[in-house]
Amino acid sequence: MANNNQEIKSNKQYHPQMHSAEHILNQTMVRMFNRGRSFSNHIEKKKSKCDYHFDRNLTPAEIEEIELKVNEVIQQDLVVNEEFHSKEDAEIKFNLSKLPDDAGNKIRIIRIDEYDACPCSGLHVSHTNEIGIFKIISTDYNEGVLRVRFKLL
Ligand SMILES: [Zn+2]
Repeated sequence: MANNNQEIKSNKQYHPQMHSAEHILNQTMVRMFNRGRSFSNHIEKKKSKCDYHFDRNLTPAEIEEIELKVNEVIQQDLVVNEEFHSKEDAEIKFNLSKLPDDAGNKIRIIRIDEYDACPCSGLHVSHTNEIGIFKIISTDYNEGVLRVRFKLL
């Protein structure tokens, strides 16, 4: 287990707090707009960005609502767990489009209590209140792509 984590760390400079915030942000975007999770992202300790297939920029009221919902989930201090599913089972229950084809038959799902569950190999917090306060820095929209930049306070 420790070796596996070590490997992930060296492959990508994962910041577990930021990365866990990304999961919550993605589920919040899905619930509010039903246009899917981010298709591309860049997660760093200081600030991160997520890109979504979209048709416009967000309004200030929507940005405020996203921040409110993400922070609500963080403050509920939900448990973050990993589960393993067979590929057949995972294909029915989750979107595996971002997984590499050679992911094998045992799919790792990261579950944030009742709020979110998605396949992921990264490092996460164990409780959501470890994340801190979620803040959107800015958003912009260009040719079908909505970019959301955020940080943690
Ligand atoms: Zn993850």
